[in-house]
Amino acid sequence: DNTLKSIDSEVFNLVRSEESYQRSTIRLIASENYTSRAVLEACGTVFQNKYSEGYPGARFYQGQINCDALERLAIDRAKALFGAEHANVQPYSGSPANLAVYLAFAKPGDTILGLNLSHGGHLTHGSKASVTGKWFNAVHYNLNPDTGLLDYDEIRRLALEHRPKLLIAGHSAYPRQLDFAKFREIADESGAILFVDMAHFAGLVAGGAHANPVPFADVVTTTTHKTLRGPRGAMILCKEVHAKAIDKAVFPGLQGGPHNSTTGGIAVALKEAATPAFKEYAHAVVANAKTLAAELSAKGFKLVSGGTDNHLILIDLTNKGITGKEMAIALEAAGIVLNYNTVPGETRPAFDPSGIRLGTPSVTSRGFGVGEMKRIAEWMDAVASDAKNTDKLASIARDVATLCSGFPVPGID
Ligand code: PLP
Repeated sequence: DNTLKSIDSEVFNLVRSEESYQRSTIRLIASENYTSRAVLEACGTVFQNKYSEGYPGARFYQGQINCDALERLAIDRAKALFGAEHANVQPYSGSPANLAVYLAFAKPGDTILGLNLSHGGHLTHGSKASVTGKWFNAVHYNLNPDTGLLDYDEIRRLALEHRPKLLIAGHSAYPRQLDFAKFREIADESGAILFVDMAHFAGLVAGGAHANPVPFADVVTTTTHKTLRGPRGAMILCKEVHAKAIDKAVFPGLQGGPHNSTTGGIAVALKEAATPAFKEYAHAVVANAKTLAAELSAKGFKLVSGGTDNHLILIDLTNKGITGKEMAIALEAAGIVLNYNTVPGETRPAFDPSGIRLGTPSVTSRGFGVGEMKRIAEWMDAVASDAKNTDKLASIARDVATLCSGFPVPGID
C-alpha cells in the first residue's frame, strides 16, 4: 500500500483535518477561494517529475513533448480569456511575477509609483519591507481621506512630479473598481509603463464583472489562486512588444524550471473561467459583497469608501471599540475566518490595526447567497459587541458549522 495514508499518516491526517476545517467554517479571506476537484487533480500529477527550463519549443532539457503541449494550452487559454497578445504562465506566485515586471522594465534606483500599502496596495508595490521598496525609489499615492476613493488628480500630480518608470495600478484591499483609461492617460502623460496587478480581481475580469485592464496596460500580472479560482501560481500578460523582456525576466532572470503540475492546474482553471457558469459566479461574488456590505453598514459598521463594487469589503472598526486583530481572533473562535487589515490613515501598528478585510469569493464558490450574507452580518455584529464572551463565540461557531453543512465545498465534497 503506497497511499499517502499508509506512508505518512501525519500528513494525511493534517489534510483531512484541513478539509474538515474548510468545510465547517465561513472563509471570508478576500484572497482565498476553493478550487475545483479538477484543478486539484491536475496539480497532483506526474508533471511534478519534469524539469522544463525554457519555453515551449525552446527548452534546455529534452523530453518535453507533453510539457510543451501543456504550457501552450495554458498560454493559449490565458490569451483568449483576457484578450492578451502574450502570456507567461511560469511565475511561481504573485510576488515573483511582480518582481519579473520590475526586472524587465526598471533598474535599481528607478522610480516606481503605486498605491500605499496601508491604503490597500501590496507589499510588492514598493513597500519598505519588500525588496521593491529597498531597491527602487518607491513613491506612493493614497486614497482620498474623505471619500476613501482613489484620487486620480493626485495620482497624475505625483506621476508628473516624479516621472516614474512604472505606474502601478492594482491592490489587495481596495473595494472599488479601477479606471484603467485614466491610469493609461496618466502613464502616457508622464512617460511611464502602465503595470496593472489584477491579482485580486482577475476572476471578476474573466467573468465580465470587472473592467479588463489588458487593453489599457503595457503589462498585467495576476495570481491564479484568488478570484480566478485556480492553483497557487501567477501569470503575466503583456503586449507582444514586451514579450521577450518579460519571458527573459521570468527565466532565466528570476526563476529556474517552471512548476509544470501547477501549469496543468492553471490550464484547467482557465478553461473553467471561460464558461457561462463562471460568468454567473463572478457576478454572484460581487452581488454577495454588495449585500454583505449593505447589511453590515445597516448595523453601524463603517465601510471604507462606504461600500463595495468588487469582491471585498474593508471595515474600520474604530467606532466599535475593538481593534482589527481582536475582532479577527474573536471571529475565528466563532467559525468566521478573515484577516485584520490596516485602513487608510491608519494610526495603529500593522500587526494590530484598526480594520478587517472581508471577501466573498470562497463563500460564493460554496453557493452562499443573500440569506447567508444576512446571517454573516448578524453574527459579525454579535461578535463585535461581545467579543470576550467565549460561550457566545462557541455557540455561534456551532451555528456556523450547521449552516456550512448545507453547502458542499468544491474540491472536497
Ligand atoms: N499582488 C497582489 C495585489 C496581491 O494581493 C498579492 C497577494 O496577496 C500578490 C500580488 C502576491 O501574491 P503571492 O502571495 O502569490 O506572492
